[in-house]
Amino acid sequence: MTRSIAIDGPAGAGKSTIAKGIAKKKGFIYVDTGAMYRAMGLYYKERGIAADDTEKIEAALEDIHVTISYENGEQIVLLNGENVNSKIRTPEIGNMASGVSTNKAVREKMVSLQKEIARTRSVVMDGRDIGTVVLPDALVKIFLTASVDVRTERRYEELKAKGMECDKAKLREEIIERDYRDTHRENSPLKKADDAVEVDTTELNAEQVIEKILDIAGSKGL
Ligand code: C5P
Repeated sequence: MTRSIAIDGPAGAGKSTIAKGIAKKKGFIYVDTGAMYRAMGLYYKERGIAADDTEKIEAALEDIHVTISYENGEQIVLLNGENVNSKIRTPEIGNMASGVSTNKAVREKMVSLQKEIARTRSVVMDGRDIGTVVLPDALVKIFLTASVDVRTERRYEELKAKGMECDKAKLREEIIERDYRDTHRENSPLKKADDAVEVDTTELNAEQVIEKILDIAGSKGL
């Protein structure tokens, strides 16, 4: 039997760090669904297709194959067979992903892929609609939040560590914009599932958040 933990929340709330830590402790695989939308965004960006060009976005869908695999425990996203991990972590691709992920057909394609992964393996999956749409039966659902300032700071440090210097004020604006788009879109907006537990990470470090979630999982028999 497979078991799953769903982690949703806005950009920079710490989802990937936390989900990775929990997956390691539980021996589950970690599935970063944002990376899948980023790969879609990259495909369109490279072809000059705008995020709101519904016709072209949908016409290209059957030519796009996003798959994931694992190397030394790290998720590798393949876009039509190419490892795109190093190309998808920029703010531009994040914004593009946020734009194209408002498209219903794009979401349907990604959701069915994500459901299929969780059907065969126990997962810690993070994203925006995991507890509400992708894995509505997940045993543990977490809604991770943090203040905009803390989320900006985390993203800034993350990009800096990768050698990508950026303007912090602009990054903050982009996060606010992305939050708005993700929570107001018509298809699967970011929202806390009724049965999710909200965990505010503003004042906590990663270890503390992981411990807290493992306690919540333990209380549900996981
Ligand atoms: O989590 P990450 O910042 O990598 O996600 C990039 C974008 O992909 C998000 O802003 C969101 O619009 C979209 N996304 C989504 N549903 C998911 C995961 C990500 O719509 N399950």
